[in-house]
Amino acid sequence: MCGIFGYTGSNVANNLIFDGLKRLEYRGYDSWGIAILKENKIHQYKNIGLVKKDKDLEKLPDAKIGIGHTRWATHGGVKKVNAHPHISTEKDFTIVQNGMVENFDSLKKQLLKQKAIFKSETDTEVIVKLVEKEVRSGKSLKQSLITSFKKLEGRNTIAILDSKQNKIYAIKNGSPLVVGLSKDGIYLASDSLSFSPYTKKIVVLDDYDMVEIEGKNISIFNIKTNRKKKPEIKTLKYQYEEIDKGKYDHFMLKEIVEQQKTINYATEYTLEELKPLLEAIRRSKKAYILGAGTAGFAAGQIGYFLRTIAGIDAQDVKSYEFRSYLPIITSKDLIIAVSQSGETADTIEPLEILKKKGCKIASFVNMFGTTISRMSDYEYYTNAGPEICVASTKVFTAQSAWGYLLAMSLAGKHTTAHRRLKLLTKSLNSLFTPSSFDYLKRMCGVLKKSEHMFILGKGENSFIALEGALKIKEISYKHVEGFFAGELKHGVIALIEKGTPVFGIIPDDHKDNENKDIISAIEQVKARGALTIGIGSEQYSKLKIFDYFIPTPQINSLSSIANVIPFQLVSYFLSLQLGNNIDKPRNLAKSVTVK
Ligand code: GLU
Repeated sequence: MCGIFGYTGSNVANNLIFDGLKRLEYRGYDSWGIAILKENKIHQYKNIGLVKKDKDLEKLPDAKIGIGHTRWATHGGVKKVNAHPHISTEKDFTIVQNGMVENFDSLKKQLLKQKAIFKSETDTEVIVKLVEKEVRSGKSLKQSLITSFKKLEGRNTIAILDSKQNKIYAIKNGSPLVVGLSKDGIYLASDSLSFSPYTKKIVVLDDYDMVEIEGKNISIFNIKTNRKKKPEIKTLKYQYEEIDKGKYDHFMLKEIVEQQKTINYATEYTLEELKPLLEAIRRSKKAYILGAGTAGFAAGQIGYFLRTIAGIDAQDVKSYEFRSYLPIITSKDLIIAVSQSGETADTIEPLEILKKKGCKIASFVNMFGTTISRMSDYEYYTNAGPEICVASTKVFTAQSAWGYLLAMSLAGKHTTAHRRLKLLTKSLNSLFTPSSFDYLKRMCGVLKKSEHMFILGKGENSFIALEGALKIKEISYKHVEGFFAGELKHGVIALIEKGTPVFGIIPDDHKDNENKDIISAIEQVKARGALTIGIGSEQYSKLKIFDYFIPTPQINSLSSIANVIPFQLVSYFLSLQLGNNIDKPRNLAKSVTVK
């Protein structure tokens, strides 16, 4: 769940690594470190907190080769001593790791018995000690790395700076790693975005690939097949977008506003481009849509659209809860994996098992060349551009909108879908006006006094209620729950006290009386003293039951996608007033590459 960055070449590695880590910081941001190699001596810098320059960092001598790491701790607290890289006793090599050594306990016990001395509490140092042991037995560093890596359980990707041979080695398993080839040298990173200002030529590595980088040359060797591989060079399609906040104070607000464009980018697919997937869905017995967290809610929204618009037997499944479905999934079923990063460990695990079962896999992710997309038979991309704020906003709406396009295309209404999606993005500007922001800010001034809030949704807005609650939780740290409105009388209503904020998502009347059910639910909580907030069709704004009302564009079922945006904005303005770290909320990391 961290970021790895490495460079060897003719430029100064120090700054390139520093800038690379800044771009990778979204992946993990509790501590960080850099190791550079100058005249066969490793120099290291580590710090806790955000990636920023200080005098000690400037003291590192300029070098042409080095590695860096942003950490998201799994083993050992957030302390300088636990930050990566972790150097060997002889100071001849140093290691950074992305992932988690699952057999850490037993390996560490064995090593302690053999008198290994540990300075940190990390699982990474276990790898260092395993390698040292192999080196002491007379093996080369390369061979020692291979032998040690094979002993590790879990998804782990490591990069090693070798002082004796002036080389970087890296081995990938599960966690991502991409090589960038440029005229000045070789880049190595957890995502291609981090080196995209310097090169668009990339080599995507497969699991168990070991890459050896020396100067401007790379060689790849798969440690499982024991075969050398020719690097398969791909050219990145997307243009590098400067990762800056532009006129916004936070990436979150920038990304929320960008939805006016990104929903269209995600749904530009022509019928021809969608055809292979549409046919696979038609051929399949059942479509299972997998995701976790926000992507899990997008999976729910996609499933809803496939069932209601196209009559497809589609079922969303939380990827971390897939096991109970295993007995009924067969090779005739199609799996659609939804992920922002394309590296979500919870989703990769079922895909590995289901692929072996013979299921075809489709994916919809935001990052190019990722593990999930490489596992897929049908690869699609959100094309929403980098999403830097840890809480996902624009990728959620991109994925939901893609589900709508898919369902409408299956129903023979591809052109209507495109027309409506354009209309949707045009109408979203009503949510981003200064007066709308002022209204939300005033409302958040009241909400910030409450510790508990509830969101009621139904039908096409059920998953919107869940995602809305997650969004507010993630950044404001308030306890917010989304409920299916139907649950109210079955227990939830017991939670309502005088002043408890309750949101009701209320669409216009295009769908199965969902509006009436929400009105009745809100009436019931209002009668018990709740502070009520309506989000949806403006025609209900005058109803006395609502204390606040945020109108959203009503374009058929697409209104559900618009309805999530007020929750994103509430999350933003509320957290701003609470003084929280909006783009990097506590304890969270952007891509959850560990289980
Ligand atoms: N397990 C390692 C640690 O806790 C690496 C975590 C990461 O991927 O950042 O240091």
